[in-house]
Amino acid sequence: MRYEGIVYRPPSEGGSLIIQATVGCPHNRCRFCNMYKNKRFRIRKVAEVLEDIDEAGRVYGGDNVRTVFLADGNTAVMRTEHLLRILGRLNEVFPRLERITSYCASQYMDKKTEKEWADLRAAGLSRIHCGMESGHDPLLRKVCKGTSMEEQIRGGRAVRAAGIELSMYYLAGLGGAEMSASHATDSAAVLNAVNPEFIRVRTFTPMPGTELGEDFRAGRFVPLDAHSSLRELRILIERLEGDGLFLSDHWLNFADISGRLPEDKEVMLKAVDQALALPGDQFRPVGMITDSL
Ligand code: SF4
Repeated sequence: MRYEGIVYRPPSEGGSLIIQATVGCPHNRCRFCNMYKNKRFRIRKVAEVLEDIDEAGRVYGGDNVRTVFLADGNTAVMRTEHLLRILGRLNEVFPRLERITSYCASQYMDKKTEKEWADLRAAGLSRIHCGMESGHDPLLRKVCKGTSMEEQIRGGRAVRAAGIELSMYYLAGLGGAEMSASHATDSAAVLNAVNPEFIRVRTFTPMPGTELGEDFRAGRFVPLDAHSSLRELRILIERLEGDGLFLSDHWLNFADISGRLPEDKEVMLKAVDQALALPGDQFRPVGMITDSL
């Protein structure tokens, strides 16, 4: 298998075979993201990807791979017929596959028709991880996310209608204090309209090598402290009306608030209130991601 640069995957894909079908991110402009800054986006030749799959079959054994993650940042941007060839070969080489997943931002989910998504589902694509980050249009524009509330809803619904599981990520604190409440409220509206199987919370932390990181260093962006971030999370949870799993499965979050909606909503709100009652020094420091954070 050939890999270029750092290859990212969601924590839930830690045990998956990773096949790098694209390199980098076709958007690559989000002001908070440094994942693919040093990669020039390109779609790999299908023949090369098929060779990698064949090699993985020889190395790991066809019966031993149950889950596959297609990297990098937005592999669904590939032409559907090419993705279908890749999915077909994965199923041939690994006949016991249970899950094939990929990242896809809303603007690319929205580019495929429901029929294309249905064909991809039939060929084995079973879950999309979507960095929604926010449903609040002014914030989406501010961080150059390249999508809108309307597009997030349309794209998410197309994927869900095809029977593909959807995991949507909420970036707590991305709007700072100024947009905190509207960020949570509009994000809840998108999540309610799409009703994904998984809502995953990540707490925004400025990163070196990003524009928001530079804003933080220059004092133009002040990250939310633990209590403000938890109050924002409370607004989000209060408004959620769907029936998926809500997960805080990341070390940067200030508290592990997880459960199944709607039945665990009150328990989760109580857990937020318990965390809010803790003194500020009980939480990790707020600041740029460095070796000490
Ligand atoms: S957040 Fe997603 S869409 Fe934005 S630059 Fe990073 S990988 Fe690309």
